[in-house]
Amino acid sequence: MKKYRVVIVGGGPAGAACAGKLIKAGLEPLVVDKQTFPRQKICAGWLTPGAFESLGVRPEEYPADLSVFPYLKVYLHGFPIRRRGKQYAIRRLEFDHWLLERSGAEVIHHEVKSIQPCERGYCLDGQIEAEILVGAGGTHCPVYRRFYAGTQPRSGAKIVALEDEFQHDWTDQVCRLWFFENGLPGYAWYVPKKGGFVNIGVGGNAEILQQRGATIQGQWEYLVAKIRRMGLVEKDNLNPRGYVYHLRGNDFKAPADNLYLIGDAAGLATLDMGEGIGPAILSGLLAADAILGCSPLRFDAVPRYSLLPPWLRWLARG
Ligand SMILES: Cc1cc2nc3c(=O)[nH]c(=O)nc-3n(C[C@H](O)[C@H](O)[C@H](O)COP(=O)(O)OP(=O)(O)OC[C@H]3O[C@@H](n4cnc5c(N)ncnc54)[C@H](O)[C@@H]3O)c2cc1C
Repeated sequence: MKKYRVVIVGGGPAGAACAGKLIKAGLEPLVVDKQTFPRQKICAGWLTPGAFESLGVRPEEYPADLSVFPYLKVYLHGFPIRRRGKQYAIRRLEFDHWLLERSGAEVIHHEVKSIQPCERGYCLDGQIEAEILVGAGGTHCPVYRRFYAGTQPRSGAKIVALEDEFQHDWTDQVCRLWFFENGLPGYAWYVPKKGGFVNIGVGGNAEILQQRGATIQGQWEYLVAKIRRMGLVEKDNLNPRGYVYHLRGNDFKAPADNLYLIGDAAGLATLDMGEGIGPAILSGLLAADAILGCSPLRFDAVPRYSLLPPWLRWLARG
């Protein structure tokens, strides 16, 4: 049995940010991930300036391809507006790998299947022992399933999303977002990325879609027809992949000592945009602070909204 003070399940933005901060403070956490990095992650890769700020990194310092958008073109029920203010896009394949390497953490490739409390903390699959366990394994995180799902299920709205990222010699460099079109309780996007890639996708509230008798697949087909009509992408054989995650709901209370849940595992995506990378990073840093200070983990500092001004926030409820 390998023994560690801190084990982090999941090496995405939440786990990597947590590991990096713990290492800076002199701890040696182990990161366990079922995938080998660099790994693909279903995500549009939109990054807010705040995400860089919490990492203490200037965007210019990011070593891989970074797309910079001076504004977003937002269509509200088809009506176009420019949402000014710099925004960024990365490729998750590159960003997550960079973040995890930068953390300096020991990473092992292992899918965590069972977690048992043991004398000194937690035992993972009878192979790894942790005094402190951090769940950063995304929506299906085994730490969430083992210790939280039964008594404190995530209360935030469930988002279903479909996207495809592919090589494309794009000419239209504007990042476009379409809200509420075709009855979508969410939004669709076209994100041209530096390095010759495009990400297109749709995401919406699963429960409302179901109530409307609609499907995310139907919304995807509507988007593809639209971007073809607009001449943004001509490619045939698009290959959309899906994932679910949760918007911010009630904060969790740790059901046991030395147990932490961060990022998508804790359901922290913003209520207006479903932004999850920034909240994952910030929650990872806060978990590191809580571990180092032996204090409870609180998410008060994690923003609930990305772009929506306070006077419009009632729109994003429910
Ligand atoms: C289609 C789509 C588009 C999105 N677009 C954006 C966007 O543009 N901007 C944005 O900010 N957010 C976006 N999000 C949300 C964002 O992707 C997530 O919120 C973010 O990845 C959360 O990071 P995380 O570190 O919590 O989890 P993840 O990035 O999911 O990392 C979790 C890690 O845990 C590992 N893991 C899982 N189970 C186990 C196990 N049993 N054992 C070991 N390891 C395990 C996984 O392999 C994975 O590497 C999007 C989501 C979707 C679905």
